[in-house]
Amino acid sequence: MNRRQFIRSSIGADVSLSAGIALADTALADHALIETLGRKEANTIVSPLYPSIMQTTTHDTLKPSVLHESERWVTVHISERVRVHALRSGWVQVRPPHREHTGIEALRLPSILLSNQWAEKLPVWMWLIEHPDGTFLVDTGENTHVHEPNYFGDAKGDAWVNRRILQLDIPPEEELVSHLQRLGIAENKIDAVILTHGHLDHTDGLRFLPTPEILFPKTEWEKPFGVAKTTFPSWLKPRFITHDSRTALGEISANDNPFQSAHRIASGLYTIPTPGHTLGHQSVLLIENGTAYCFAGDVSFTEKQLLAGGVAGICVSPDAARETYSRFKTLAGRIPLVYMPSHDAESAQRLQKNSMLFV
Ligand SMILES: [Zn+2]
Repeated sequence: MNRRQFIRSSIGADVSLSAGIALADTALADHALIETLGRKEANTIVSPLYPSIMQTTTHDTLKPSVLHESERWVTVHISERVRVHALRSGWVQVRPPHREHTGIEALRLPSILLSNQWAEKLPVWMWLIEHPDGTFLVDTGENTHVHEPNYFGDAKGDAWVNRRILQLDIPPEEELVSHLQRLGIAENKIDAVILTHGHLDHTDGLRFLPTPEILFPKTEWEKPFGVAKTTFPSWLKPRFITHDSRTALGEISANDNPFQSAHRIASGLYTIPTPGHTLGHQSVLLIENGTAYCFAGDVSFTEKQLLAGGVAGICVSPDAARETYSRFKTLAGRIPLVYMPSHDAESAQRLQKNSMLFV
């Protein structure tokens, strides 16, 4: 594989990487990557020289987070023309049976509601793509107002369920608006927001934006699952996305697309249907220099969970979720694939390291 990638740090150093091969092992690389993560302590190294570049095959899907709390964002130039920002919008904790359900199917949802424990803290990722065709935001994260008593308005049931099953920790400096300020990107410079689905930890940052184009899966709107519409801004009038079986995914022809349909947003930028977590769930694929970068939303909590075949408790169709997993594995056999779920502690590092999904 001769494709090369360039990561530029905020201090101006360029680190050249070869995709899928052990990364640069210089002190400069460490320093540059630490700077891009926004870490305050430049002498703190997460791990010596990224020993995990070769994909781990452990199936321990409940392994605690390795992401340090100071890592709020990472900016990666995935090519000369495209820059991607992984932006963390705080943390979420869910009940252990929400994280992964095993056992009797009928107990899938009750076991979440009845649990009195919390699983480990997981990040909430959103993704900003600076692309020659425009600036695109994938999901919008959470906001600090979510804890206000009247946040859900009249939807008392939604309020009770969401507060029962989610514990959200949103530092103000990790709201979308703070990240945009730090990056020097005005809110009205975002050309479109692509929502993977309608859950509040993906949509609650909409309130920070003027009225950009919102690309929302049509099925998600028509057959919502766990969507608290009272939390949407009143101006929200999404452009509904449907997926077309004739749309090729870059160099992958429509016939060879394992997802069987897609929607083209811009050059190399697509959405694909990825049902399971919700019926209308979609993921975003950015194909650049022969690599597919997948902003997967809540297809699985982690890449390890996808590889192990475990399914989260919050899932409208476990069969559809497993079929979606299988399609991602097929896609990974057709094109180098960087798989980045919204709550995987390692998603940002995977973008940074160009770490492929190996199946
Ligand atoms: Zn969700």
